[in-house]
Amino acid sequence: MNRTSSPKQLSRPPESPLQYVKGIGPKRAAVLPAFGIRTIEDLLTYFPFDYLDRSSILPISGLKKHLNTDKPVTVIGEVFRLEIRRARRTNRLMFFLTIKDRQDYLTCVWFEGVQWFKDAFEVGELLAVSAFPEVDKLGRVQFIHPEFDRLKGAMEEDEPDWGKMFNTGAIIPKYSSTAELTRVGLDSRGFRRIIRNALKTHLPRIGETLSRDILERHGLKGMALAIEQIHFPSDTVNLEAARRRLKFDELFFLQLMLAYRKRSLEGEGNGIAFSSKSVLARQLVESLPFTLTKAQRKVLREIAADMQSAKTMNRLLQGDVGSGKTIVALMAMLVAVESGYQVALMAPTEILAEQHYRTLTAHLKGLPVNVRLLVGGQRKKLREDVLEDIRSGRAHITVGTHAVIEEDVGFARLGLVVIDEQHRFGVMQRATLREKGYRPDVLVMTATPIPRTLALTLYGDLDVSVIDELPANRRPIKTAVRTESQKERVFQFVREEVKRGRQAYVVFPLIEESEKVDLKAATEEFQRLRTEVFPGFKIGLLHGRMKSDEKEAVMLKFQAGEIQILTATTVIEVGIDIPNATVMIIENAERFGLSQLHQLRGRVGRGADQSYCILIADYGWFDAHRKGKEVRELQVERRDAAVRLETMVETTDGFRIAEVDLQLRGPGEFFGTRQSGLPQFKIASLVTDRDLLALARTEAFTLVGNDPQLRDPAHVPIRRHFEEKYRGALGLGDVG
Ligand code: ADP
Ligand code: MG
Repeated sequence: MNRTSSPKQLSRPPESPLQYVKGIGPKRAAVLPAFGIRTIEDLLTYFPFDYLDRSSILPISGLKKHLNTDKPVTVIGEVFRLEIRRARRTNRLMFFLTIKDRQDYLTCVWFEGVQWFKDAFEVGELLAVSAFPEVDKLGRVQFIHPEFDRLKGAMEEDEPDWGKMFNTGAIIPKYSSTAELTRVGLDSRGFRRIIRNALKTHLPRIGETLSRDILERHGLKGMALAIEQIHFPSDTVNLEAARRRLKFDELFFLQLMLAYRKRSLEGEGNGIAFSSKSVLARQLVESLPFTLTKAQRKVLREIAADMQSAKTMNRLLQGDVGSGKTIVALMAMLVAVESGYQVALMAPTEILAEQHYRTLTAHLKGLPVNVRLLVGGQRKKLREDVLEDIRSGRAHITVGTHAVIEEDVGFARLGLVVIDEQHRFGVMQRATLREKGYRPDVLVMTATPIPRTLALTLYGDLDVSVIDELPANRRPIKTAVRTESQKERVFQFVREEVKRGRQAYVVFPLIEESEKVDLKAATEEFQRLRTEVFPGFKIGLLHGRMKSDEKEAVMLKFQAGEIQILTATTVIEVGIDIPNATVMIIENAERFGLSQLHQLRGRVGRGADQSYCILIADYGWFDAHRKGKEVRELQVERRDAAVRLETMVETTDGFRIAEVDLQLRGPGEFFGTRQSGLPQFKIASLVTDRDLLALARTEAFTLVGNDPQLRDPAHVPIRRHFEEKYRGALGLGDVG
């Protein structure tokens, strides 16, 4: 999906059109492409990251009142004095810059890059400087390594006087820059200049990208006006309107692409129409020791309707941990099997694939359904046998990891693919299926709830079913936070529960960057727990570096009760289902993301007994990691960690937890991996632009429904922009 956000690649002409913009020239034009600016359009959509306006500026004398802000503050003043001094104790050079506003003086200090900074300023030039204010030994406020923005200096010809403009109330854009850009004069001020020049000549040529009726329906400004105002707003109202328009644009065109992809996934009604008989599914329901919840029945109806129609199903099944997605998926599988088709069930890890295999086999005992497991590490003969069953169609259901579709496995009649994923199985893999010539119905199950804005973006080409209810026999898990010093009491509690016949998990964090170190720590801690804390108990260890048959053996023992206390890294995170396990201890809980904590907690509370989740958190961890980090960064981390732990104690609602997690981490980090497949927006935000996203989606899907070829003359601007920007994007063969 990343492809959508970058304009199509043209073979670049020998000369960049940028160099003819006043103030750029060949030298700067040569540097800009490395920063994604190749065309005039790129330049005009290089949006400010912030603005200076008078309401955001403090007088220097007012800084003392803002020593504890969590945002940098800005002051404006003239350069008064420049000075290099040597620190007495460390003998290092330091650069001091004093600026002066109407009443007061402020000193800014640099420890790094002294040689460069000493020549960077001139006495008398006007600067905006931003930093977290700090206090020196004498109690004076100072800025350390501030960001700065030149408002006036040795002015280049015909450059507006930003300082004067500022004083008359203008809002001045701030552009992000880098050392390399600054070297060629493209600091924030340099960008202001070239963008202003580019606007002068190119503004009249900026075309509209939306239809008039969409603009009018949502009170959106025209494109050219929005571009002008985002850079040089005449006031805050116009700035806000410009931002809204440009955000809408980004969200709309992404949703338009998803609408087309959905259309093409659905096919022209030449998908499989499964029979509506469901004898097997009914037999399964009768054999269950429980009745399905209302929510499970509702989503089953949605899935069945999709499967019976000739449209290809592409459905996302969302539900909180323990809401009973597996049984729902199994019933869908039986519908496919009964219609004479094969099913592939794919899990993100081998452990999970093996567990699904066991669960399915247990549920299907007595039914004429052949389930096979395909994972790495199987003996060759067994593997050949499984592959042969798949090829011949004898394997009704094949359970495995993604390798099932990625390798050369040939299905005789693949009709349904169920993907149990932890946000790992993205759009590309779904496309792989099609490439291999299969057109099965697809059901994607998420392991944990996803905030709505992310779901509509990442899975926006799917229909969504939500199981919004837990089985009635569940008792809410009791969650508490304890410190390191209270650990002995926590362990005592574990001993008591285990003596009563329950089982427990003790989870250690394993963070990728230091996997080896953490693994060593986890192994040592395991030895300590085994010999010192829980002597006489049966205790096991599970971690990601173990071979798959070792892992499997451990899981089987835990399931059989031969292990009472399972110490593990986060490999137990996804999907493991052992109802007798009722205690979850999470060590260093402050190191886990919120959704991950929720997912881990979901490993208990799966049976009828009261379950407990105890989060051990110790802020000592921050001291260990203090080195190299700003105090303020640590404070933010610490505050976020506290919010995470509090949220865990407060609620068990996975959808609410997911929203808080998104607020804290932002969309890129939400999934715990950068390759989440989320598009890079220039201005829209999946955290804050929820309502706008909903509007944009409705408009885009309505448009594709009413005028799929975009033939209506009123839709020409949309069509032109879409073709230009998104041509070549996945699955758009049928546009235009
Ligand atoms: P998840 O949605 O996390 O995948 P599972 O499908 O693994 O949840 O179900 C969790 C547990 O709840 C399983 O042991 C399953 O058999 C059981 N379960 C599923 N549906 C119900 C129900 N309607 N009533 C009671 N228990 C159920
Ligand atoms: Mg599951």
